[in-house]
Amino acid sequence: MRVDSVTVHTDRVEAVLAFGTTPLRTSAVEGLRERSLELLPGLARHRCRHAEGRPLTEELADTEFAHLFEHVALELMVLAGSPRTLTGETRWDWDHDPKGTFRVSLQYDDDLACLGAVKGASSIVRSLADGTLSPSVDTIVSSLRDVRLHDREDRG
Ligand SMILES: [Zn+2]
Repeated sequence: MRVDSVTVHTDRVEAVLAFGTTPLRTSAVEGLRERSLELLPGLARHRCRHAEGRPLTEELADTEFAHLFEHVALELMVLAGSPRTLTGETRWDWDHDPKGTFRVSLQYDDDLACLGAVKGASSIVRSLADGTLSPSVDTIVSSLRDVRLHDREDRG
């Protein structure tokens, strides 16, 4: 998975993700749901609006990795102090974008923290997909907290 671009809009950040021409679904990786929840227990509280408000934990059995990315980024923001009411959306249109491209939109209350969450989510999701050791969530979250703090100070 590669983050192709990140754009900050006034109301959301949009990350364009490239997963290659045969994007895996989460069902292809055994134990993914359990490992995701172990890493980020708060994911158990997420619901998916596009899926009639079903819990994310049900969706995780078989969904796009970009969708997991969306929720991981939101959860990282929440852990760093963003409100849990922020929402995200994952879309794709392979008539217009190359196959395997996903567009993930994230609402934010702090744009810089959101950008940091995109970066953190990309390394976490990559490790979940590859079955490799995940980066430390605590380290990512504490750096996002610092970003929020400094962002506030700079803006007075
Ligand atoms: Zn969802």
